[in-house]
Formats: sequence, C-alpha cells, structure tokens
Amino acid sequence: MRHLFSPGGLRVLAAFVRDDPLLAFDFDGTLAPIVSHPDHARVPEPVARELERLSLVLPVAVISGRRVADVLPRLGFVPRFVVGNHGAEDPGDPPSEHWPRRLDGLRERLARAARALSGAGVWVEDKGHSLALHYRQAPDPLVAIDRINEVLIDLDPGLRRFGGKLVVNVVCAEAPDKADSLAALMARADAHSALFVGDDLNDEVVFARRHRHWLCVRVGRDDPQSQADFFLDRSSEMRALLARIRRLKEPD
Ligand SMILES: [Mg+2]
Repeated sequence: MRHLFSPGGLRVLAAFVRDDPLLAFDFDGTLAPIVSHPDHARVPEPVARELERLSLVLPVAVISGRRVADVLPRLGFVPRFVVGNHGAEDPGDPPSEHWPRRLDGLRERLARAARALSGAGVWVEDKGHSLALHYRQAPDPLVAIDRINEVLIDLDPGLRRFGGKLVVNVVCAEAPDKADSLAALMARADAHSALFVGDDLNDEVVFARRHRHWLCVRVGRDDPQSQADFFLDRSSEMRALLARIRRLKEPD
C-alpha cells in the first residue's frame, strides 16, 4: 500500500478528481482525530472549512458508525449526505423500522448480562440501528472479548457482527453496510466515481468492494491486511488532502 501523496498516488487522485467524484469520509479517526472520550470528537476547524469549500464544487458525504444526530453537530459544516450506524441509518432513504426491532432479542440478552459485561469494563451503546459493545476502558481487553463472545454466542442469523477499534458492533444483517451506502449515495449524487477515506476495520467492507471507480484510502498503516488502494499516515493529513483536491478542482 502506497502513500496517497506519493507520485503514483497523486496521479491517481488527480485523475479521480477530474471525474467529479463523490467525496465520502468516515468520521472518527478520519475527519476527527481519535480522542480519549468519544464525546469530545470534533472535525478540526481548518478541516471543516476545507470541507465546506469543497462541498460547493463536489458532493460530500460522511458515512459514520455514529447516529446521524450524534455526528452532524460534530462536523462544523453541512455535507450533502450524512449516513449513520455504519450505513444502516440513511435519512435520504428512510431505513426499515424492522431493522432496530431485530436487535430486541440481543438487547434482552445484553440486559441479562449487564453485570458481567460492566464488570469486565464493557460499555454497551444502543444506537437504535446498531449496538456497540465498547471495551476501550476494559482493564484486560482479552477478558472483555471473552465476555462479549459469551453474550454473542449463537447470534441470531438475522444479525451481523463486525469489529472496530476496541469495539464489537451488531446490526441487522439486512441493513446496508458502508459499501452499500457509498454505492447508493453515488447514484443519488449522479457521480460515476468516489473517493472514500476511512481508518478502521469497519471501513474494510468498502475497501474490499473497491473497483476502478472507487479510490479507497486508509488513514494509518497499522493493518497490513487492509485492502485500501493508498494510505495516509494520520488524520492530521486530511487538511492537506482536501486542499489538494480543491486546488485540482479550482486551478489558479
Ligand atoms: Mg473510523
């Protein structure tokens, strides 16, 4: 995986930008730096201003694992599209009421295991369309994973489990994932190509489905298995990336 700012990466980026792509971004760890408490995550002001300027010339989307109502006030700009819950919550294509209800059985199971989970440092976040079992605060992550696996054993086949950074997520299996969401937003924006930037295991579903019209960029090179096309070293490089895209769109 090469750095996006390598000569080869910049050539590919320029070719994509000429095609007026949809620009789609994950939030945590991508637009917003990872902070010790998720409540404090925000898009840095200079990045928000670049996104605001870019959104005047290209369609911009944020596809996050957070709820839409949670992520929107943290952006500092209003993108054309915001999709939450890992693709399952799309205000432009109202999600099925059936999906959150499908999680009810697991909600009951989690309530019964509440003491064992909290004792292992696992925090359960109910985001309506998905459940997140966080173990960032766990004193022993291996014990926390064991407790999580005990609760998720024999998981309803109508549900889908996937990992993230110190979190296990569960959604309704029928709900769209981030890759489905990216494809749907491209169609809605009438864009023939897309740039997608993400940093986490739950963005790999997009990277895995990449094709010649999707340019996939991963923030961080800590996963040698990542299927992204290019990488950035850290989210602080987002401002430089956005400025480059803007200069490609608006040459002096
Ligand atoms: Mg992320």
